[in-house]
Amino acid sequence: MKLAERMSRLGTETAFEVLNRARALEAQGRNIIHLEIGEPDFDTPENVVEAGVRALKTGHTHYTAASGMPEFRAAIASDAGRRRGLDFTPENVVVTPGAKPVMFFVMLALLDEGDSVAYPDPGFPIYESMVRFLGARPIPIGFRTEGGRSHWNVDDLVASVDHTTRLIILNTPSNPTGATLSAGETDQIAEAARRVDAVVLSDEIYSRIIYEGTHESVATRPGMLDRTAILDGFSKTYAMTGWRLGYGLMPVELARPVTQLMINSNSCTAAFTQLAGVEALEGPQTEPDAMVHEFRRRRDLIVSGLRAIPGVECAMPQGAFYAFPDITGTGLTSRQAADKLLDEGGVAVLAGTAFGSKGEGFVRMSYANSYENIEIALERIAKTLGRVPAVVA
Ligand code: PLP
Repeated sequence: MKLAERMSRLGTETAFEVLNRARALEAQGRNIIHLEIGEPDFDTPENVVEAGVRALKTGHTHYTAASGMPEFRAAIASDAGRRRGLDFTPENVVVTPGAKPVMFFVMLALLDEGDSVAYPDPGFPIYESMVRFLGARPIPIGFRTEGGRSHWNVDDLVASVDHTTRLIILNTPSNPTGATLSAGETDQIAEAARRVDAVVLSDEIYSRIIYEGTHESVATRPGMLDRTAILDGFSKTYAMTGWRLGYGLMPVELARPVTQLMINSNSCTAAFTQLAGVEALEGPQTEPDAMVHEFRRRRDLIVSGLRAIPGVECAMPQGAFYAFPDITGTGLTSRQAADKLLDEGGVAVLAGTAFGSKGEGFVRMSYANSYENIEIALERIAKTLGRVPAVVA
C-alpha cells in the first residue's frame, strides 16, 4: 500500500521495541530485569481507583466536553496554579488522553512547514518525530555534564534560535538525563523566547518527581504566561500510565484550536478517568509523596553502583526516574552496550541514541523497578560492562 510521504518522517519510541525483545527472551526462559520502560512500578493509589470505579457505576459512561469536565478543569487549574504560583482558569486547561497528545496538538496548531523548533537532544523522542512529521526544521540542543550533574546547553539554545523559531520545547526534569533547569537557565530561555517571539512548550510531566530544589516553570517569568503551553499529567505522578490522562495549560487563544483538534480526533477523554483525576488531585497526597521518597533511594543506589564500574560515569539526576550513564569508557557504542546488557547481562536498557543522535555514548536506565531488582541489575551490569569484579554498594 502506498503511504503518504509524511509517514516516512514519523519516528517512534524504541522503549516498546526493547520491551518486546526482552519479553521474547523471557519467553525462552531467560530472567530479565526491566530498566527500559519509563513507567512507575507502583499501583495507582487505591482512592483514585475507587473514584474511577464509582464513576463507572454511577453512569459516567458518556461523552464529556471536548476540553474536559468543568469540575476537572477547575481542579487542574487550581492545583497546577498553586504548584507553580500562577493564576490559571479552567479556560486555560485542555484535558487529553495521556499527556502525549498535548505535544502533538500544540505542534499541529502552531507549526507551518519550514518553521524551526528547538528541542532537547537527547530528549523525549516524540518531539523530534513530530517536528519532522510536520515538515518543521529541527534544532536539536544537546547537554553537557559539569560538577557531577547534567545541564541542558541553554547557551547553545540562546545562540541557535532566531525569528524562524516558532517553538522552543523544554523538559524539566528531563527524560532521559534527569537534569532540571536552574532559575538562571529558566530566565535565559524566557529571554530568548521573548526576543525571537517564540512559543514555549514546557514539558513538566516530571515536575512532582524532584529530589533537589523546587520546580520553577518558565511560565512564571515575565511575559511568559501568554506564550507558554505547559504539558503535565497523571501517568508518572500518580502511576496512571494505563488510564491515559494528561492535560495542557495554555493561553486561551491556543486552548481553543487545541480543543478543536480534540474534537477532530478523540472527541473527549474518558469520563471515569477524569473523575479519578479529580480524586488524585484533591485526595490525600501521601502515596505520590511516598513514591518520590522511594525513587530517591533507588536513584542513590543506582548512581553509586554505576559510578563504581570502571569505564562508566554517571551524573546525579535531580528529578524523574532515569539514570543516564556515560559508557564511552567501556569502548562500546550506546547500541552495543544496550544489546550486550540485554543479551549477555539480562538487563534491558535503552541506547542513548533512542533519544536523539547526541545521546551517543550513553544508555538510559529507568529506576522505576524495585530496590532489590536494581541491586541485582547493578551486579549484572558490572559483570557485563566492567572488566571488574561486581562489587556494588
Ligand atoms: N513527556 C515525557 C518527557 C515523557 O517521558 C512522557 C512519557 O514517557 C510523556 C511526556 C507522555 O506521558 P503520557 O504517558 O501521559 O502520554
